[in-house]
Amino acid sequence: MIRKKDGIHVYQDVKHVLDSRNSIGDTNFVSHAHSDHAFKKNGEIICSKLTEKLLQKRFNADVKRVEHDSIQLIDSGHILGSSAALIDGKILYTGDVSTRDRAYIEGFQPVEAEELIIEATYGIPAYRFPDQEEIERSIQDWVEENSNPLFLFAYALGKAQKIQYLVQEVTERPIIAHGSVLKMNNVLEKHTDLEFNTLPYKENKDLLKEDGIYIGPTSTSKKQYINKLVSQNNGLKAGFSGWALHNSMGYSRYDKAFPFSDHCDFNELVELVEQVEPEKVYTHHGFDEQFASYLRREKGFNARALKNNQSSLTDF
Ligand SMILES: [Zn+2]
Repeated sequence: MIRKKDGIHVYQDVKHVLDSRNSIGDTNFVSHAHSDHAFKKNGEIICSKLTEKLLQKRFNADVKRVEHDSIQLIDSGHILGSSAALIDGKILYTGDVSTRDRAYIEGFQPVEAEELIIEATYGIPAYRFPDQEEIERSIQDWVEENSNPLFLFAYALGKAQKIQYLVQEVTERPIIAHGSVLKMNNVLEKHTDLEFNTLPYKENKDLLKEDGIYIGPTSTSKKQYINKLVSQNNGLKAGFSGWALHNSMGYSRYDKAFPFSDHCDFNELVELVEQVEPEKVYTHHGFDEQFASYLRREKGFNARALKNNQSSLTDF
């Protein structure tokens, strides 16, 4: 039985709790270190080695990574360290997922499973992203074409590092990072081959009056101290998200918004489901209802959206 409560609960021989902030199961799986998935308690969790390090640093969490015979981790291609879980070789839980290679990360490789629990963030046909190489090239072109100070806003873990990586490929201009980005850069520099050479904001903010490039979390795009720097120095602001495709979720407020996403787009979600060839599909998050309905109607899958506290199998 599969239920959505606080996280997703899968009842097999034991109770598996997936991506919950608070619920405790016989096993507790954390797909990645984004805060909407992060285990907020201390204790033993099933996750990748890198996710353990990121959780410890990001949330000061006293978590310890353990393994369980029934859970196999598979890279989910969302951010470094992110994993999908294959439970008892039968139930595949994607967590946040992308099948597209981007910057330095490789996309998820689907495996076959009897049941699939899949995120549906961009689960409607309106969200088909342009070719990834094109998007990355357009980001780099924009950086090269604009010598004014640039202010880039992206999720502090995952997106911010990919953007820094792309920027560093085309320019040696100083990159000045908000503390939350710097903190995550440091963990990745310590545990992977990536290097960011980013400078801390406080000591280097004057570089943003010249040719410096700022990178910070989306929340800082509304901060007065940032907007003052932008307006006084002819700065340009850019955002990076799949939502930028239709300027939704506030992406129209930037001078430039790139549809660079760490999730599958609609076509990729459909392909993923087809490759897994499941007997049952459970969708959750984002356009969950719409995606499940598309899979039923157009592709003949036994699919439904997981809603809070609704049981599944029995009332499928
Ligand atoms: Zn995520």
